[in-house]
Amino acid sequence: MQQQSIYDLSLAELTETLAGWGQPAYRARQVWEWLYQHKVRDFEAMSNLPRALRERLQAGFVLGRLEQEAELHSTDGQTVKRLLRLPDGQLIESVLMEYDDHRRTACISTQAGCAMGCVFCATGQMGFARHLTAGEIVEQALLFARQLESEGERLSNIVLMGMGEPLHNYDQTLEAIRRLNDEHGLNIGQRHITLSTVGLVPAIRRFADEKLQVGLAISLHAATDEERSKLLPVNRRWPLADLIEAVHYYIGQAGRRVTFEWALIAGENDTPEQAHKLGHLLRGLKCHVNLIPLNPTSGYAGRPSDPVRVKAFQDILESYRVSSTVRVRRGIDIQAGCGQLKAEVQSQGKKVRTAEDHD
Ligand code: SAH
Ligand code: SF4
Repeated sequence: MQQQSIYDLSLAELTETLAGWGQPAYRARQVWEWLYQHKVRDFEAMSNLPRALRERLQAGFVLGRLEQEAELHSTDGQTVKRLLRLPDGQLIESVLMEYDDHRRTACISTQAGCAMGCVFCATGQMGFARHLTAGEIVEQALLFARQLESEGERLSNIVLMGMGEPLHNYDQTLEAIRRLNDEHGLNIGQRHITLSTVGLVPAIRRFADEKLQVGLAISLHAATDEERSKLLPVNRRWPLADLIEAVHYYIGQAGRRVTFEWALIAGENDTPEQAHKLGHLLRGLKCHVNLIPLNPTSGYAGRPSDPVRVKAFQDILESYRVSSTVRVRRGIDIQAGCGQLKAEVQSQGKKVRTAEDHD
């Protein structure tokens, strides 16, 4: 039988397990700190625990279970992308981005594949395999945090923008956020965590009711239902009016500005008409728009907009006083777009640098 990952236990579950083994109440907190503060690689290193307890933990649990299948480094040295293998053979991706101001941001996955089917997205093109557990979500960040700490750095930010739709895997994602945020754990401030969603309206409302300070990003990509439904099938279920209403609700509850993401696709959603419609839709809303020229994928014929079109689009938004930034996709040379590395490895059997090559 496959052993359970200790990262899949909440603090309450760990406490209960250890109590069941006759351990004093303070032990769970000790183990927790070894796991998430010291980020030890094996139970043996938990030096203030009795040997018998370390052995029992060792026999009952594994310390994580993500195997590194491949790792790519961008040519500018500021982006690292990992392909990780789960025990059932599924592959997921996580990315670490370094910024000059010392920010270190991990982009992590919440599902293997995705059920939402957005046409331009490599993960959407793969279909859905399964939800990740909270432990599997947290472990991706922990691996980067451990590595950074060994280099005298610290993981400062998390974006839930890897593979999968986080709000489709609501409970595990929420548990993971709490764990990342836990001051006795990875201690990453809620304001330094951002969740990106394709727009699952009831889940956005539920998330708003959690009253967290976590940043919310909405993958908008189109400002009319007709155009949006073509790109994001989920829009047929929850059209724009419902989505914007839910966003208002989130802003009201969290008191935070929301980010909208917009992948600019030449001749598709980069027209002056779409820009005006977007300006109308967002005028007066506490928000910011990230404009990202499309990262081409094998399953979709669209191309990125050229810089002149991007500028024109941005100028129109400006006339509605809607702020926007043009973002360059980080690590474009290493398939850092979500799902793209896995797609590439599987379809072409491309030689990527493996963990063994790297170590
Ligand atoms: N499922 C969530 C989070 C993961 S995707 C969501 O959709 O929001 C992270 C972001 O990358 C989303 O805004 C998504 O629309 C965008 N994206 C996906 N494929 C892309 C591509 N090929 N080019 C540009 N952006 C892309
Ligand atoms: Fe899923 Fe997000 Fe990709 Fe859409 S863009 S298919 S929701 S991962």
